[in-house]
Amino acid sequence: MIRAVRPRVILGYDLGGTNARATLCRTNQGFSTRIQLKEGTDRRGGLAVVDQMVRMAEALKKQEGITAYDVVGVSFAGPFDSNRGVVLAAPNIDGFEGFELTRTLQEKLGAPAFGENDANCGAVSAHGIVDAAGMDDFLWVTVSSGFGAGMYVNGQLVRGHSFRAGEIGHESLYSDRSIGNFCGCGGKGHAENFAGVGLRMLFNNLNYSRESSLGAYEGCLDMNTYDAKDICEAASAGDAVCLEAVKTSANEIAHTLANYVVLMDPEAIFVSGSLGQNSLYFRLLQEAFDATPIAFRWDAKAKHDMLRLSTVEDPCLVGALVLADEKLTALEAQRA
Ligand SMILES: [Zn+2]
Repeated sequence: MIRAVRPRVILGYDLGGTNARATLCRTNQGFSTRIQLKEGTDRRGGLAVVDQMVRMAEALKKQEGITAYDVVGVSFAGPFDSNRGVVLAAPNIDGFEGFELTRTLQEKLGAPAFGENDANCGAVSAHGIVDAAGMDDFLWVTVSSGFGAGMYVNGQLVRGHSFRAGEIGHESLYSDRSIGNFCGCGGKGHAENFAGVGLRMLFNNLNYSRESSLGAYEGCLDMNTYDAKDICEAASAGDAVCLEAVKTSANEIAHTLANYVVLMDPEAIFVSGSLGQNSLYFRLLQEAFDATPIAFRWDAKAKHDMLRLSTVEDPCLVGALVLADEKLTALEAQRA
């Protein structure tokens, strides 16, 4: 396929409940996210967030001395209908459910815009860049505050019937609905309850009766001053309470990953996210994953090697750039 004669200028966004990031990429320099802006996502939600995104785009234009973008790609933290460009659910951004995000951005920015779920963008970055180059079947997961996944099967990104495939964090762990904590999605006893926020909760429960190096029990979760990183650091330094909480978290996340191995038979599972990439956490995740029995006596070494650290920096942003480039290429081919 013939590519555009001049290098494309792509605007990429990574839109989450906490932060909004925008990057400007020139395709002749690869899918780099070196030039970028980061702000706290506007808490008013809805159009205020779109206005914020437009302001960031204008600031990047001015900074880099360009007049227009060729295409826009958005990585969105939640289920996203990438055909219609519509947000299906936005648990962390007010006023975004059902929002026609790409149409609105297209009108305001004057360039074709495309959107995709953030974990799917992460998987695209792995497939297109380095980690999973040449792999047809793999899982890409992020373990941070939440727990999400994007997957490739038979060389194709799997979005599912209603764009909700790979919502691994919302896998129900118990048939008994009286067990487990409530999840941000409204469900109960979901795997995500053992990722970052859940780790704080696990620690809190243990700390109620056992003092740790992080101090005495501080009360309900909202009153705690430490985060998942603090708990991992204290665990690394030998704190028994923190280590128990981290081990429990890693065990449950590994258990969920092992179930996905049975389902999709991947060549590799790439682990991303601030918690997943913590060296102690990844080691414990690997140990728990190795110890999880999987059907048909999977070769132990092959199973061990399956779990890998993702190496792409800013994977969701990079995936949004790659997808936007691919979508524009397809659009131009249609027009030709
Ligand atoms: Zn859930």
